[in-house]
Amino acid sequence: MLKVQIFKGEIVPFSFKLSAEKFCSEDFLDNGKFIGEIEIFGETVNNGLEFIVRGKIKCCKEFNCDRCLTTATENQIHEFEEEIDSAEIVENLFDITELVRDILIASQPIQNLCKADCKGLCPVCGQNLNDGECNCNRLSVDPRLAPLMDFKNF
Ligand SMILES: [Zn+2]
Ligand SMILES: [Zn+2]
Repeated sequence: MLKVQIFKGEIVPFSFKLSAEKFCSEDFLDNGKFIGEIEIFGETVNNGLEFIVRGKIKCCKEFNCDRCLTTATENQIHEFEEEIDSAEIVENLFDITELVRDILIASQPIQNLCKADCKGLCPVCGQNLNDGECNCNRLSVDPRLAPLMDFKNF
């Protein structure tokens, strides 16, 4: 699908634009999906010794924030540089489809946050605390803290 050209002793540029929907299956990511276009561009290099493919992937991810659950989007750029096994080059072509998919999955953050300092939801009333404080006494609801509070009040 995404075949790049490789020639001995040459640098060959490549660039692709794909529909994120078509390129990634629905369960591609654990949380969220890529939307719009995925751009992949770079070059292949053969210096006489090794074959290298390097470039950038630009994409946009839509997801639900782990803390406040609102839908957010994030533009991502992933750089890559990989050595290619010459056995996988067929008639001066190398397929980077799997490589691109692997990079997209491997470079996702463990936490998906709408912003780094997202305040999350109030565990009592469910208010999105990014929109403002509620009037709940949130300390008293954590059962692990309850005995501690009693002790302090005693
Ligand atoms: Zn959030
Ligand atoms: Zn509240």
